[in-house]
Amino acid sequence: MPIVVQKYGGTSVADPDRIKAVADRIAAGHAAGNQLVVVVSAMGDTTDELLDLASRVSVSPPQRELDMLLTAGERISMALLAMALSERGVPAVSYTGSQAGILTDSTHGEARITRITGERVRESLEEGKVVIVAGFQGVDPESKEITTLGRGGSDATAVALAAALGADSVEIYTDVEGVFTADPRIVADARKLDEVPYDEMLELSAGGAGVLMTRSVEFGRRFDVPINVRSSFSEDVGTWVREASMEQAIVSGIAHDRSEAKVTVNRVPDRPGVAAALFGPLARAGVNVDMIVQNVSHAGTTDISFTVPRANVDDAERIAKQVSDGIGAGSVDVDPDIAKVSVVGAGMKSQPGVAARMFETLAEAGINIEMISTSAIRISCVVRADQIEEAVRVLHDAFDPPVITEEPAP
Ligand code: ADP
Ligand code: ASP
Ligand code: MG
Repeated sequence: MPIVVQKYGGTSVADPDRIKAVADRIAAGHAAGNQLVVVVSAMGDTTDELLDLASRVSVSPPQRELDMLLTAGERISMALLAMALSERGVPAVSYTGSQAGILTDSTHGEARITRITGERVRESLEEGKVVIVAGFQGVDPESKEITTLGRGGSDATAVALAAALGADSVEIYTDVEGVFTADPRIVADARKLDEVPYDEMLELSAGGAGVLMTRSVEFGRRFDVPINVRSSFSEDVGTWVREASMEQAIVSGIAHDRSEAKVTVNRVPDRPGVAAALFGPLARAGVNVDMIVQNVSHAGTTDISFTVPRANVDDAERIAKQVSDGIGAGSVDVDPDIAKVSVVGAGMKSQPGVAARMFETLAEAGINIEMISTSAIRISCVVRADQIEEAVRVLHDAFDPPVITEEPAP
């Protein structure tokens, strides 16, 4: 019997009626003869509400306790879904990440899945049960502590489980009909893509397209598990994220990200070793630096700006100040009011002029570019946060409909 792994996101299990609708869909899949493993997220905005509760009792909650709290969200939805299935006469059992054998490293709040044992999942499947697994969580086998995988982590749970169980593909049910050319909440005429290659989806996700967590796409690519993103509210076939087919768009999508802040260290002495002195301690403190810009030096000093997740900005500021004092640099400024817009497309590898077109389009809209970074298939610009929606819209207008290159890029 084929194993099918499905994942339902927060909106798809937001209230009892939605849970019952999901149970109906699962019951149909079970009746069709599939072995079903279903990963669930916490109901609606539960994770945000739990984070808010934590912030009301503590300014800096211990990471371990935060994980104990947040994992409760997925336990609620998994148990309710198992109950709704029993009610329909479908045998079902729910497991926490730990019970399902999802082993992780020890990094609370952003743990990486290291291995999936999955014994109880397989046993229950053999008994003919639908297995519900709490998304976004695992256990560190050394310390026996419960961990979470980072925001959106249920996607990673689902793709990793599909790989571990040898499923042919994984179905990600969400509140939109697939992956679009831009966030459909911002660009009303964004188009649904039928297919997105793994490498483009990785860049879109890393650029802020929250429809799939970046790490889930990495798992999909590494273990060759095609990902079908689709709506739990309709029967639309959705989008397939998988190996590239023959045609490659020069630009396939626009992503945006409001989750970062910019840190600037002023008057950094322009001599060998200062960048290492700054970014070494940041890396050791686990601060994920995204974009970096170093200005032209004037009178032996230069300014260095970089972006970090807003969640880490206090750590980044503290470390930057320590380093600045140590190397004789000037003040450290933090700017939270920035956002990043990215243009992604594998075809741009073989097509010059995409960057120029992007910069012209932003300039015509009166949007100033503060930082730029590129990869082979992506160009990203940092702009003022209050101009990000306009930036996404004008770029979408400029690059859609897509131009297809005739040959896949080498
Ligand atoms: P879930 O709770 O199901 O995991 P998410 O909120 O994490 O859902 O992801 C779905 C949301 O991702 C959509 O509602 C949409 O606003 C947003 N999104 C951002 N970029 C895109 C894109 N390119 N295509 C589709 N959705 C996108
Ligand atoms: N509930 C978690 C979150 O809101 C995980 C997920 O939904 O994927 O981030
Ligand atoms: Mg999500």
